[in-house]
Amino acid sequence: MLRLGHRAGRDPRLTTHAALAARALGADRMYLHPPDPDLAERIRSVTRRWGGTFEVVGTDDWRTLLRQFDGTVVHLTMYGVPLDRVAPRIRPSARVLLVIGGAKVPFEIYERADYNVAVGAQPHSEVAAVALALDRLVGPVPAGRFSGGSVRIRPSARGKRVVEAGTPR
Ligand code: SAM
Repeated sequence: MLRLGHRAGRDPRLTTHAALAARALGADRMYLHPPDPDLAERIRSVTRRWGGTFEVVGTDDWRTLLRQFDGTVVHLTMYGVPLDRVAPRIRPSARVLLVIGGAKVPFEIYERADYNVAVGAQPHSEVAAVALALDRLVGPVPAGRFSGGSVRIRPSARGKRVVEAGTPR
């Protein structure tokens, strides 16, 4: 995923949530423009604790990133074509870069994207857009994806049960 238009100090919570949703739902990495080392460190500590290899990589140069990306660029925007219509064409791609914006997205992104994709034709949130797009494009996340953490959740109907990783189920 590429998150554009992040305003460090103004919307750390929203961008953190975009990173957490992307991580939990199957993304490998979030490129963040402009870089925010504090946010990257917070996500690193989540990954240390909860497992997997997700990382936040700051970038000052999203144009080069997009030019060099060797996969399918999917820009999430309410102005795009419906996700369900194009998902069958995107799913077979080995590498997908989901691009989410902030208040205003440069028009170049619309031109560079292989697909401009809408998750419903109404304005909502980059977090919701990325979550639904990953669900439709990647599908269920295998349990083994989050190995290597120090804790895991033992699902329970009530209450919170967090156990050390390696505890028998
Ligand atoms: N005018 C924007 C747009 O093009 O979607 C809405 C800005 S919204 C505050 C910030 C980001 O959320 C957008 O850049 C887009 O990535 C995502 N987003 C919001 N609504 C969306 C929708 N219906 N479909 C896909 N992405 C959406």
